[in-house]
Amino acid sequence: MNISERAQALSPSPTIAIDTRAKELVAAGRDIVNLSAGEPDFDTPAHVQEAAVAAIRGGFTHYTPSEGIRELREAICRKLKRENGLEYRPEQVVVTVGAKQALHNALLVLCNPGDEVLVPSPFWVSYTEQIRLAGGVPVTVPTDPAEGFACHAADLEARCTPATRGLMLNSPNNPTGAVYGLADLREIAELARRRNLWVISDEIYEAMVYDGAEHHSIAGLCPERTVVVNGLSKAYAMTGWRVGYAAGDPAVIRAMVALQSQTTSNISSVSQKAAVAALDGPHAPVQAMVEEFAARRGYVLERLSTMPNIVCPAPQGAFYVFPDVSAILGGRAAADAAQLAGRVLDEAGLAIVPGTAFGVRGHLRISYAASRATLTEGMNRLEGFLKKV
Ligand code: PMP
Ligand code: GLU
Repeated sequence: MNISERAQALSPSPTIAIDTRAKELVAAGRDIVNLSAGEPDFDTPAHVQEAAVAAIRGGFTHYTPSEGIRELREAICRKLKRENGLEYRPEQVVVTVGAKQALHNALLVLCNPGDEVLVPSPFWVSYTEQIRLAGGVPVTVPTDPAEGFACHAADLEARCTPATRGLMLNSPNNPTGAVYGLADLREIAELARRRNLWVISDEIYEAMVYDGAEHHSIAGLCPERTVVVNGLSKAYAMTGWRVGYAAGDPAVIRAMVALQSQTTSNISSVSQKAAVAALDGPHAPVQAMVEEFAARRGYVLERLSTMPNIVCPAPQGAFYVFPDVSAILGGRAAADAAQLAGRVLDEAGLAIVPGTAFGVRGHLRISYAASRATLTEGMNRLEGFLKKV
């Protein structure tokens, strides 16, 4: 059979590939510490589990509207108002199979063939592939590690051409942890207005900010141009439930719902009931997880600070560190960090992601969304490996 050009051009998600490989090695009996995928190790909060059990027992196990049940879209509107100061009506919200499908569907309804989309780099692995799938052209915009990988409006504008139509914003950022300040967001919103750009704002790590950093949504500054994307995977430890959502202009959301009605229909009815319980429920479990992430972040940063040839600035958000390891690679930097990550896995039994997956050389991404015992063992292995090479 002939595989389509579209599929041939597509590369699989490297974060998922490495995580899957690590899990396979564990299943085969290998002793592997997995700090690759960004997946909270906590259990989904008990009251959320109970809501799902009640939904199953109560027979809430049928199709729902493609856009998601009204009860959940109302809960999402309340959340966006309460936590982000954003005003949306349920008609402006679509519930998706994780934030990933929200991003994909938004791009499919916003991109025409050849449209250029700005992507600050380092970027999360799926943005560039999803833009290509939608027929668009990703235009990466490098950021400076010395500036905490912040992306400024001037950097974006320098890459604009007459074909530029939109921008992927991700704050807090995966993999760098960069959190955009209000001043930068204001300038970016102004640029979006002036250049008539749409903005897809991926805010999935909004709950994880540290050292006094604050999350702001660009939707508060240019609501008419923004599609807000968020989900429950990270904040509520619900990666497997597959609940994400998008909020924005009613016409964009209607198009996303139409697309969904012809492709995946609705997300699991049971997950929708669980999501209502999570969003309307107590915030304490989220807070407790974030406090634990903050402590783990401190531990990992401290361990890395004593390791040779590693430079690791403190990220302001998300649950990754993104150390510069170019000194280890030395003259072989061109061979990039992928080889290094491969050796760390083979020789030290530690799964981490090379920066090349996120579009940059000379870095590794280490997730600290893992138990303290796992992190301790992971840091011991990395240190042992570095002393050896
Ligand atoms: N955006 C970013 C930046 C991510 O890291 C992830 C990680 N999975 C997602 C979106 C998608 O999350 P999900 O589909 O699980 O909601
Ligand atoms: N987003 C997580 C990560 O970056 C999970 C894997 C994925 O969805 O790509 O590791």
